[in-house]
Amino acid sequence: MIIPPLGLYIHIPFCIRKCPYCDFFSEKIGTDGVQDNYVSALIKELSIYSEASSGRKIESVYIGGGTPTLLNPKQIESIMDAIVRNFCLSDSVEISMEANPGTVTENNIREYRRLGINRISLGVQSLNNDSLTRLCRIHNRNEAIIAAENIAKYFQNFNIDLMHSLPGQNLKDAILDLDEVIKLNPNHISWYQLTIEEDTPYARNIPPLPKEDIIDSIYLEGYDLLKQHSYVHYEVSAFAKKGFECKHNLNYWTFGDYLGAGSGAHSKITESNSIHRQSRIENTCEYIRSMNENRISNIYATDDHISNEDLTFEYFLNRLRLFSPIPIREYEDLTGLCFENIRHLFEKYEAEGLVSLLEDKIVISNKGQLFINQMLQDFI
Ligand code: SF4
Repeated sequence: MIIPPLGLYIHIPFCIRKCPYCDFFSEKIGTDGVQDNYVSALIKELSIYSEASSGRKIESVYIGGGTPTLLNPKQIESIMDAIVRNFCLSDSVEISMEANPGTVTENNIREYRRLGINRISLGVQSLNNDSLTRLCRIHNRNEAIIAAENIAKYFQNFNIDLMHSLPGQNLKDAILDLDEVIKLNPNHISWYQLTIEEDTPYARNIPPLPKEDIIDSIYLEGYDLLKQHSYVHYEVSAFAKKGFECKHNLNYWTFGDYLGAGSGAHSKITESNSIHRQSRIENTCEYIRSMNENRISNIYATDDHISNEDLTFEYFLNRLRLFSPIPIREYEDLTGLCFENIRHLFEKYEAEGLVSLLEDKIVISNKGQLFINQMLQDFI
């Protein structure tokens, strides 16, 4: 097994209110004191990993949530200082932070850039006020446009998250949303279909979603529009101008390692002969209390090694999201397993027109891109 590149993920689990479709871990924002205590706990956790990362270079940092932009610039500065103090950052490190249009001012955006953040991911989701109201977003169309324009002043590298197939949305509205986002000129767009996740208010009370044939047309027209504007479709829902693919997410999808910090964060770390996974408890108060009282083991919800049976599934679960060819050597290097044991499955997919199996790599066909979930079933 080779040791892959390492990314760092930091979870900020606060939101102003919960959006009804969202299954990410976040809690309603508390008082300033709670956030200060959370940041202190986070900084303490980062210091613990300083030694454990044993000098490995961090290739990307992602501050996600929740809503990281609910922290004030001073709190973000303390986190950034702790990152620089405890880790060895690669010279070309990508440092991304998620931003919610309802929580950013131009001053704050300028500060984020000054603090060393070099990529912003703005959660716009829609530019239609009716859709934004239905999604219970805290921002409106104007605030989203102003936030994107301000970000563009300070960041060459920024992403806009946009959803489609929203409650009550028709083809025209979905494509208009995408067209308007393209006009804001981000060099990366995450354009993804609203899905109903378990245990969310939408799952308990499913809103009226567009019919399948409308959704198919949204995809076809949307892909065309993105292509016309030079966005390359490099992952299931990610589109980037050349050279602006998200390094941090590419590292997940190529089965790289990542260290997580904060309540609800996950880690995957390759050791000499196995892969170690950890998840942290989804409970901000308990996380803060445990860190304060030095009961570090209490912050972990799960702590285990990925079994050989699960490794192939986990590798392809990530890797098949990318449309680039899969080197057979990469599978063997990153899992420590032998491709010959699963060759027969890819020979079957080749006969079905889902892949081409070349001497040293697997190439997913256009048809195969539509059957990724079916292929994954074979690895469970
Ligand atoms: S703002 Fe983002 S993280 Fe928070 S509830 Fe809404 S979708 Fe989820």
